[in-house]
Amino acid sequence: MILMKWIELILSFECNCRCIVCPSSLQPASSKMSFSEIDGWLEYGLARGAEAVWFGGGEPTIHADLIASIERARELGYRQRKIQTNGLRFAYQPFAKRCLQAGANLFAMSVKGPDAKTHDGITQNPGSFAHLTKGVENLVAQSALVEADILITRENHQPNLLSFWNDLIVGH
Ligand code: SF4
Repeated sequence: MILMKWIELILSFECNCRCIVCPSSLQPASSKMSFSEIDGWLEYGLARGAEAVWFGGGEPTIHADLIASIERARELGYRQRKIQTNGLRFAYQPFAKRCLQAGANLFAMSVKGPDAKTHDGITQNPGSFAHLTKGVENLVAQSALVEADILITRENHQPNLLSFWNDLIVGH
C-alpha cells in the first residue's frame, strides 16, 4: 500500500484568473470533481495515512463544494486543511470567515508580483492584486495561518517581491 502524509485534491481546473504562466484554463470543464468524488479521495488518503489535505486547482474557492469538503476533511480527522488560492474571494470577509469556521487552517496565497501592475499583468485580471492583498489582510486579522506561494518569473523579478509579501503577512 502507498503511504502518504498529504493528499492534494484538484477540485477543478476552473479559475477566475488567466495567468500567462498557467495552462489551467485550457483544461476541459469535465475535470471538475463532484462532492462524492472529493469525499472518496478524502477517504482514500485517510486509509493510506494522510493527515493533511490540500485543496487546489484551478481555483478551489470557486468550487461550489469547497466549504462542505473542508468540513468533511475535519470530520474525518485531517489535522491540516489547506487552501491553495489566488486569494480573490478572501477579500470578502464573510467568505474568509466561512472557510475558517468550516475548518480551513492553512492558506497558501498565489503571488505573482509586489504591485498591481506586475501582479495583474500576469494574472490578466485587473484588480486581482487589490483583492489578494485585502484577502491576506482579512485572514491575518483573524489569526489565520497564511503563506505566500511566490512564483518568480522574468516579468516579476524585482527586489521587493519577497519583502512586500513578508511585510504584509508577518508584519501584522
Ligand atoms: S490563479 Fe493559479 S490556477 Fe488560476 S490561472 Fe493563475 S496560476 Fe493558474
